[in-house]
Amino acid sequence: MNGAYSTPASEDGLSLPVAEMFYSIQGEGYNTGKPAYFVRLGGCDVHCPWCDSKSTWNPRLYPLVAIEDILREISLTPAVNVVVTGGEPLMHPLGHLCDALKAKGLNIFLETSGTHPLSGQFDWICVSPKKHRPPLVQVLSAADEIKVVIGSEADLLWAEKNRKGVNERCRLFLQPEWDRRDLALPLIAEYAKKHPRWRISLQTHKYMNIP
Ligand code: SF4
Repeated sequence: MNGAYSTPASEDGLSLPVAEMFYSIQGEGYNTGKPAYFVRLGGCDVHCPWCDSKSTWNPRLYPLVAIEDILREISLTPAVNVVVTGGEPLMHPLGHLCDALKAKGLNIFLETSGTHPLSGQFDWICVSPKKHRPPLVQVLSAADEIKVVIGSEADLLWAEKNRKGVNERCRLFLQPEWDRRDLALPLIAEYAKKHPRWRISLQTHKYMNIP
Protein backbone atom coordinates (compact mmCIF):
# COMPACT_ATOMS: atom_id res chain seq x y z
CA MET A 1 0.00 0.00 0.00
CA ASN A 2 1.22 3.51 -0.76
CA GLY A 3 1.95 5.10 2.60
CA ALA A 4 0.65 8.49 1.51
CA TYR A 5 -2.70 6.94 0.76
CA SER A 6 -3.08 4.63 3.73
CA THR A 7 -6.54 3.63 4.94
CA PRO A 8 -8.03 5.82 7.69
CA ALA A 9 -7.03 4.33 11.04
CA SER A 10 -10.55 4.45 12.46
CA GLU A 11 -11.99 2.31 9.71
CA ASP A 12 -13.51 -0.94 10.97
CA GLY A 13 -15.92 -1.70 8.15
CA LEU A 14 -18.90 -0.29 10.05
CA SER A 15 -18.18 3.01 8.36
CA LEU A 16 -16.38 3.49 5.06
CA PRO A 17 -14.74 6.40 3.21
CA VAL A 18 -17.31 7.26 0.57
CA ALA A 19 -16.05 9.26 -2.42
CA GLU A 20 -19.52 9.48 -3.95
CA MET A 21 -22.87 7.73 -4.03
CA PHE A 22 -25.35 8.03 -6.86
CA TYR A 23 -28.10 6.19 -8.70
CA SER A 24 -27.36 5.59 -12.36
CA ILE A 25 -26.95 2.84 -14.96
CA GLN A 26 -24.16 0.26 -14.94
CA GLY A 27 -22.32 1.25 -18.10
CA GLU A 28 -19.81 -1.56 -18.60
CA GLY A 29 -19.29 -5.28 -18.48
CA TYR A 30 -21.81 -8.09 -18.04
CA ASN A 31 -24.37 -5.99 -16.16
CA THR A 32 -24.38 -3.16 -18.71
CA GLY A 33 -27.69 -1.37 -18.90
CA LYS A 34 -28.94 -2.32 -15.44
CA PRO A 35 -30.02 0.54 -13.20
CA ALA A 36 -27.78 0.46 -10.14
CA TYR A 37 -26.87 2.48 -7.09
CA PHE A 38 -23.12 3.17 -7.03
CA VAL A 39 -21.16 3.30 -3.80
CA ARG A 40 -17.72 4.57 -4.76
CA LEU A 41 -15.22 4.13 -1.94
CA GLY A 42 -12.12 6.26 -1.57
CA GLY A 43 -8.69 4.66 -1.61
CA CYS A 44 -6.67 3.00 -4.35
CA ASP A 45 -3.01 2.00 -4.29
CA VAL A 46 -2.96 0.51 -7.81
CA HIS A 47 -2.43 3.85 -9.58
CA CYS A 48 -3.22 3.05 -13.21
CA PRO A 49 -1.97 5.79 -15.56
CA TRP A 50 -5.30 5.86 -17.44
CA CYS A 51 -7.45 5.94 -14.28
CA ASP A 52 -10.57 8.08 -14.68
CA SER A 53 -11.13 8.13 -10.90
CA LYS A 54 -7.77 9.50 -9.72
CA SER A 55 -9.56 11.75 -7.27
CA THR A 56 -10.50 8.64 -5.28
CA TRP A 57 -6.95 7.46 -4.63
CA ASN A 58 -6.51 9.10 -1.22
CA PRO A 59 -9.18 7.73 1.16
CA ARG A 60 -8.39 10.40 3.72
CA LEU A 61 -10.05 12.97 1.50
CA TYR A 62 -13.43 11.35 2.14
CA PRO A 63 -15.64 11.19 5.21
CA LEU A 64 -16.23 7.89 6.94
CA VAL A 65 -19.92 7.21 6.36
CA ALA A 66 -21.79 4.77 8.61
CA ILE A 67 -23.28 1.79 6.82
CA GLU A 68 -26.78 2.70 8.02
CA ASP A 69 -26.37 6.11 6.37
CA ILE A 70 -25.30 4.46 3.10
CA LEU A 71 -28.40 2.25 3.28
CA ARG A 72 -30.61 5.25 4.00
CA GLU A 73 -29.39 7.00 0.85
CA ILE A 74 -29.99 3.88 -1.23
CA SER A 75 -33.49 3.49 0.21
CA LEU A 76 -34.41 6.91 -1.20
CA THR A 77 -34.16 5.35 -4.68
CA PRO A 78 -35.91 2.33 -6.25
CA ALA A 79 -32.52 0.61 -6.71
CA VAL A 80 -32.38 -3.18 -6.64
CA ASN A 81 -28.71 -3.41 -7.65
CA VAL A 82 -25.76 -1.86 -5.84
CA VAL A 83 -22.31 -1.52 -7.42
CA VAL A 84 -19.52 -1.35 -4.84
CA THR A 85 -16.62 0.31 -6.62
CA GLY A 86 -13.74 2.71 -6.12
CA GLY A 87 -10.96 3.37 -6.00
CA GLU A 88 -10.15 -0.14 -4.92
CA PRO A 89 -13.00 -1.19 -2.63
CA LEU A 90 -11.22 -4.31 -1.31
CA MET A 91 -8.78 -2.06 0.54
CA HIS A 92 -11.61 -1.92 3.09
CA PRO A 93 -13.34 -4.68 5.06
CA LEU A 94 -16.64 -5.06 3.20
CA GLY A 95 -18.34 -7.79 5.25
CA HIS A 96 -20.60 -5.45 7.25
CA LEU A 97 -21.61 -3.48 4.16
CA CYS A 98 -22.50 -6.63 2.22
CA ASP A 99 -24.46 -8.11 5.14
CA ALA A 100 -26.48 -4.92 5.46
CA LEU A 101 -27.17 -4.65 1.71
CA LYS A 102 -28.15 -8.31 1.51
CA ALA A 103 -30.50 -7.92 4.51
CA LYS A 104 -32.36 -5.35 2.38
CA GLY A 105 -32.60 -7.83 -0.50
CA LEU A 106 -30.26 -5.87 -2.77
CA ASN A 107 -28.05 -7.45 -5.45
CA ILE A 108 -24.42 -6.56 -4.82
CA PHE A 109 -21.96 -6.16 -7.68
CA LEU A 110 -18.25 -5.68 -6.91
CA GLU A 111 -15.82 -3.86 -9.22
CA THR A 112 -12.23 -4.59 -8.21
CA SER A 113 -8.69 -4.83 -9.52
CA GLY A 114 -8.37 -7.98 -7.40
CA THR A 115 -5.21 -6.76 -5.70
CA HIS A 116 -6.49 -7.11 -2.12
CA PRO A 117 -8.08 -10.13 -0.43
CA LEU A 118 -11.83 -10.59 -0.80
CA SER A 119 -14.08 -9.60 2.07
CA GLY A 120 -17.89 -9.68 2.01
CA GLN A 121 -20.33 -11.74 -0.04
CA PHE A 122 -21.25 -10.57 -3.54
CA ASP A 123 -23.76 -11.58 -6.17
CA TRP A 124 -21.35 -10.63 -8.92
CA ILE A 125 -17.59 -10.08 -8.88
CA CYS A 126 -15.97 -8.20 -11.73
CA VAL A 127 -12.17 -8.23 -11.70
CA SER A 128 -10.33 -5.78 -13.92
CA PRO A 129 -6.72 -7.05 -13.89
CA LYS A 130 -3.92 -4.50 -14.12
CA LYS A 131 -0.59 -5.45 -15.70
CA HIS A 132 1.56 -3.41 -13.33
CA ARG A 133 -0.22 -4.89 -10.28
CA PRO A 134 -1.65 -8.35 -11.05
CA PRO A 135 -4.71 -9.67 -9.22
CA LEU A 136 -4.42 -12.15 -6.36
CA VAL A 137 -5.00 -15.75 -7.46
CA GLN A 138 -7.80 -16.11 -4.90
CA VAL A 139 -9.72 -13.10 -6.25
CA LEU A 140 -9.17 -13.88 -9.94
CA SER A 141 -10.44 -17.43 -9.49
CA ALA A 142 -13.61 -16.14 -7.78
CA ALA A 143 -14.46 -13.71 -10.58
CA ASP A 144 -17.81 -13.97 -12.36
CA GLU A 145 -16.38 -11.65 -14.99
CA ILE A 146 -13.00 -10.29 -15.98
CA LYS A 147 -12.85 -7.00 -17.81
CA VAL A 148 -9.44 -6.27 -19.31
CA VAL A 149 -8.68 -2.75 -20.47
CA ILE A 150 -7.00 -2.83 -23.88
CA GLY A 151 -4.88 0.05 -25.15
CA SER A 152 -2.52 -1.87 -27.42
CA GLU A 153 -1.93 -5.30 -28.90
CA ALA A 154 0.34 -6.25 -25.99
CA ASP A 155 -2.63 -5.93 -23.64
CA LEU A 156 -4.32 -8.82 -25.44
CA LEU A 157 -1.51 -11.11 -24.21
CA TRP A 158 -2.20 -9.85 -20.70
CA ALA A 159 -5.89 -10.64 -21.18
CA GLU A 160 -5.06 -14.21 -22.21
CA LYS A 161 -2.71 -14.63 -19.26
CA ASN A 162 -5.55 -13.73 -16.90
CA ARG A 163 -7.98 -16.02 -18.71
CA LYS A 164 -5.86 -18.95 -17.55
CA GLY A 165 -6.60 -18.06 -13.90
CA VAL A 166 -10.40 -17.80 -14.03
CA ASN A 167 -13.05 -20.41 -13.33
CA GLU A 168 -14.93 -22.05 -16.20
CA ARG A 169 -18.15 -20.02 -15.81
CA CYS A 170 -16.30 -16.66 -15.78
CA ARG A 171 -17.35 -14.23 -18.54
CA LEU A 172 -14.51 -12.60 -20.47
CA PHE A 173 -14.60 -8.97 -21.62
CA LEU A 174 -12.18 -6.75 -23.50
CA GLN A 175 -12.75 -3.05 -22.97
CA PRO A 176 -11.02 -0.32 -24.99
CA GLU A 177 -8.98 2.17 -23.00
CA TRP A 178 -11.13 5.27 -23.35
CA ASP A 179 -8.37 7.65 -24.46
CA ARG A 180 -7.13 5.12 -27.04
CA ARG A 181 -10.51 3.84 -28.16
CA ASP A 182 -10.01 4.77 -31.82
CA LEU A 183 -7.03 2.39 -31.95
CA ALA A 184 -8.26 -0.20 -29.48
CA LEU A 185 -11.82 -0.71 -30.74
CA PRO A 186 -10.94 -2.19 -34.14
CA LEU A 187 -8.22 -4.25 -32.44
CA ILE A 188 -10.56 -5.88 -29.94
CA ALA A 189 -13.35 -6.31 -32.50
CA GLU A 190 -11.04 -8.37 -34.70
CA TYR A 191 -9.66 -10.25 -31.70
CA ALA A 192 -13.11 -11.18 -30.38
CA LYS A 193 -14.14 -12.44 -33.83
CA LYS A 194 -11.12 -14.75 -33.86
CA HIS A 195 -11.43 -15.71 -30.16
CA PRO A 196 -15.18 -15.78 -29.56
CA ARG A 197 -15.10 -16.60 -25.87
CA TRP A 198 -14.18 -12.96 -25.44
CA ARG A 199 -16.85 -10.27 -25.63
CA ILE A 200 -16.54 -6.51 -25.93
CA SER A 201 -17.39 -4.12 -23.11
CA LEU A 202 -17.88 -0.46 -23.92
CA GLN A 203 -18.11 2.30 -21.34
CA THR A 204 -21.65 3.08 -22.42
CA HIS A 205 -22.19 5.56 -19.57
CA LYS A 206 -19.59 7.78 -21.25
CA TYR A 207 -21.48 7.62 -24.54
CA MET A 208 -24.70 8.35 -22.64
CA ASN A 209 -23.01 11.18 -20.75
CA ILE A 210 -24.15 9.89 -17.38
CA PRO A 211 -22.02 9.17 -14.28
FE1 SF4 B 1 -8.11 3.76 -11.01
FE2 SF4 B 1 -9.25 1.36 -10.76
FE3 SF4 B 1 -6.68 1.56 -11.47
FE4 SF4 B 1 -7.43 2.18 -8.99
S1 SF4 B 1 -7.53 0.17 -9.95
S2 SF4 B 1 -6.03 3.36 -10.28
S3 SF4 B 1 -9.43 3.11 -9.34
S4 SF4 B 1 -8.45 2.26 -12.66
